[in-house]
Amino acid sequence: MKIIMLGAPGAGKGTQAKKIAEKYKIPHISTGDIFRANIKGGTELGMKAKSYMDQGQLVPDDVTIGMLLDRISQDDCQNGYVLDGFPRTIPQAQSLTAALNERGEKMDYAVDVDVPDEAIVNRMGGRRACVKCGATYHVAFNPPKAEGICDACGDSLVLREDDKPETVQKRLTVYHDQTQPLIEYYSKEGILVTVDGTKGLNEVFEDIVAVLGA
Ligand code: ADP
Ligand code: AMP
Repeated sequence: MKIIMLGAPGAGKGTQAKKIAEKYKIPHISTGDIFRANIKGGTELGMKAKSYMDQGQLVPDDVTIGMLLDRISQDDCQNGYVLDGFPRTIPQAQSLTAALNERGEKMDYAVDVDVPDEAIVNRMGGRRACVKCGATYHVAFNPPKAEGICDACGDSLVLREDDKPETVQKRLTVYHDQTQPLIEYYSKEGILVTVDGTKGLNEVFEDIVAVLGA
């Protein structure tokens, strides 16, 4: 099964993608996590991405598309995957469609996690992230067992630089300008599913499973 998660920054794409990956035993591929791992590792890719990310801008398509297409051609992707944070622009979506077409494949679902901007701002301020394993928590809605420590790997949790309020507003503007048009793109492809992302984490997941199948 090949799934795309759509939605504003902070809508819950990563949270749901992790649950989907576990249930359907497919890899969770987050372009944001790949960039953050590269920044942490001090790679050239990481250095290119950092300045855009810190400003709430998108990393340019010529960097992002190749990276993602490489990733989905790896062996663990043969039975599908869940994409979180990609595509984010129409050219990214077109490149993905074209690359899959060449192999006689297509995406199965694009799940739009729908959350209004007002709710997003609250969520981002409370998000705490583990840069080591990509796990995400929320101080109120999904706290870790021990404050500041990742349940999954024991590393310390951080407030992402780009989750600070001034950057969140910028990211929302970028989302509406560049990413929201993908909702129409995937609606035309006939694979769009919309879920109400304002519900609790588990309810949102149940709504997604109801569409994907048990
Ligand atoms: P995205 O991957 O779309 O940027 P995340 O999955 O990281 O978003 O979620 C953003 C923040 O909101 C995190 O702190 C997460 O724990 C929290 N969150 C996710 N889904 C919900 C939900 N349904 N209700 C409340 N908080 C949520
Ligand atoms: P995320 O972890 O998905 O919230 O992504 C964090 C940041 O990484 C974004 O604000 C962008 O700067 C960058 N990024 C992640 N995915 C993409 C993408 N598909 N295209 C461009 N930039 C991206």
